[in-house]
Amino acid sequence: MMDFVAKRRRLVECLVSEGYLRSRRVIDAMLGVPRELFVPEDARAGAYADCPMPIGFGQTISAPHMVALMTELLGLEDDSVVLEVGSGSGYQAAVIAAAAPDGFVYSVERIESLADFARDNLASCKIRNVEVVSGDGTLGYVRKAPYGRIIVTAAAPGVPESLLGQLSDGGRLLIPVGDRFLQDLVEVRNEGGKFVEKHHGGCVFVPLIGEEGWK
Ligand code: SAH
Repeated sequence: MMDFVAKRRRLVECLVSEGYLRSRRVIDAMLGVPRELFVPEDARAGAYADCPMPIGFGQTISAPHMVALMTELLGLEDDSVVLEVGSGSGYQAAVIAAAAPDGFVYSVERIESLADFARDNLASCKIRNVEVVSGDGTLGYVRKAPYGRIIVTAAAPGVPESLLGQLSDGGRLLIPVGDRFLQDLVEVRNEGGKFVEKHHGGCVFVPLIGEEGWK
């Protein structure tokens, strides 16, 4: 049997030494979530390589360093209420949920079969503070808005207005913005209704498809 715990520890050590992981909160969250349960069963042996992996339907689970970087940039607190757009495997949502144990993650996914995949994966590691919602996340999830943190894990042509409208005062939104092949990781902070942007460098995500995304 493969020792996933040892592999996970080694990956986390690498991400710390490379500077992606910086806080106790996110380090513990990544140590606590078994990534092998979020990839297709026949791909589990490779679950601790630092690269994205196919999860079906032309979609991917993000590379661990990208999950680490984005989770750190979210600046989570114990009780953060987070909206994620693009559940995919559910892994990013699981890491956020573990890092904000008294908070809650609403994660929206447009492909119904992947929403089910994410729900099953989250249930298999007993994560209860995530709800996977089926639908077009470019419109956010009005029912539970506003959110202190919003994370989009698919590439957008611009920042959807709907998401800005669902970001709390003092809140933070993270989204890859660019063309279909290369994006810039953009952070937007809501400072009293004024949206202040910061750029965190290049990244590559699958496209965000929807009303306020790619058509
Ligand atoms: N966060 C995921 C990786 C996401 S891959 C993980 O940890 O595994 C991007 C996901 O965004 C895909 O599953 C894709 O179907 C989804 N997606 C694309 N456009 C979307 C939209 N408008 N609303 C919701 N999900 C969307």
